[in-house]
Amino acid sequence: MSYRQPSPERVQEAVDLALASGLLMADTHTSFTHAPFTAFPSPYPRTAYNKALAVAIDFNQLMIRVAMDHDFLARVTHDIASADPFTARLFNSYLETRPVDGALPPGLGLFRSDYLLQASAATSGDWGNALRQVEINTISSAFGALSSRLSELHHYLAARHGDIDSQALPSNPAQSGMVDALASAWRHYGEADAVILFVIQADERNIFDQRHMEHMLWTRHGIAVVRRTLAQISEHACLSSDSQRLRIENQEVALVYFRAGYTPGDYDDECAWQGRVLLERSIAIKCPTLAMQLCGTKKMQQCLAEPNVLEQFFDDKQQCQRLRSCFAGLYKLDDREAVDRALMSPENYVLKPQREGGGNNLYGQDMRRALAAMDESKFPGWILMEYIRPPRSSNFLIRDRQCSAEIPTVSELGIFSMCLNQGDTLLENRALGHLLRTKPETEKEGGIVARAAVLDSPCLVD
Ligand code: ADP
Ligand code: MG
Repeated sequence: MSYRQPSPERVQEAVDLALASGLLMADTHTSFTHAPFTAFPSPYPRTAYNKALAVAIDFNQLMIRVAMDHDFLARVTHDIASADPFTARLFNSYLETRPVDGALPPGLGLFRSDYLLQASAATSGDWGNALRQVEINTISSAFGALSSRLSELHHYLAARHGDIDSQALPSNPAQSGMVDALASAWRHYGEADAVILFVIQADERNIFDQRHMEHMLWTRHGIAVVRRTLAQISEHACLSSDSQRLRIENQEVALVYFRAGYTPGDYDDECAWQGRVLLERSIAIKCPTLAMQLCGTKKMQQCLAEPNVLEQFFDDKQQCQRLRSCFAGLYKLDDREAVDRALMSPENYVLKPQREGGGNNLYGQDMRRALAAMDESKFPGWILMEYIRPPRSSNFLIRDRQCSAEIPTVSELGIFSMCLNQGDTLLENRALGHLLRTKPETEKEGGIVARAAVLDSPCLVD
């Protein structure tokens, strides 16, 4: 599939519609612009797309079962904690707030599982076999609202100009799906006057993605949102002494939705940690609980990929097989053979620490140097991962109202999903929609806010 350079008029139209529909990101506190996006949807194999959607409910179940299995979660996380102070602090907060009877509190998972296609693994043209999970985000899975808007924009432009079969563009109800999931958890709490608390970063640039959700919670469900940082929460929130109900500025909180709390910078002082512990102690439903957050570490991903580990969580062999078929090669640094292979051919591996939010991975010679110099005591804080080389496509990237020339690109698919649990019962479990991020083929990282990738939408091809 190949597109022609869009005319200046077409670029202007796309940018105006992006701005009009709220496809926005903040530059600074006082200025904002449209989120960057591709001029056209990128081709994406239908079999791989369908598989990623279908396997979402399996990954949800896996995350909930791991979150419930205190011994397993504690074993893996304790190991990381020995090498990574931030994970150690999250883990201690989890231990400190864990119900004494060990029961799993109700929780809402709003996850996004990200995939790249390993082109060399598409045996006899079956792209389903090539789907490789990059990571699963269990906290602050972003871009649902903006991604839904971009899908609508691409769909409109395709239909209006008739140059792409709009039937090949899957609908993308990520935003409404996430909002309905939050509303479900709010209803489960069962207090008509209670609010949803969004835990936010003070200087969030992806602010409109959150505001769209907040707005829709009100218009579609009549639910009010209060937005506060962890430091503000520690100052203004409290628990009722008898029942551990969470109140902030005299409003009861039914659900705490974290769009912060995943990176050390979100805890710049002790108050922020106190805020996190207070929230976790409360009977408000958490999205996610600390246990669910800890299920999303890179180290957990590597441990779950070890032989016979999935089988501890599922009797169904086919379910294990479905999940395992999405795993890339994942290795601990104690695995000398894997480390030697990475030192020999650094281009085939990525070295990852236990961090979220982009820009932390090491590649190529940086990886080689870090591996060669690393003290053994730091090994549990890192994992090695097979480098995934997706099929090349091409597209035009629109940033700051300017459209690039045609460039070679690769795309990363994210699938949003939700699961609501009460104890060990999964009350709801479904896929919600997608995010396609596309970047120049030469770019290693995948962040949109970090200007590596742009928003895109898939055009499904057989
Ligand atoms: P983060 O938590 O920082 O988002 P990721 O594991 O998602 O960490 O890595 C960030 C980006 O790096 C991804 O979006 C992807 O573009 C790239 N990346 C990560 N793992 C791989 C891999 N195994 N092969 C190729 N690229 C990768
Ligand atoms: Mg990522």
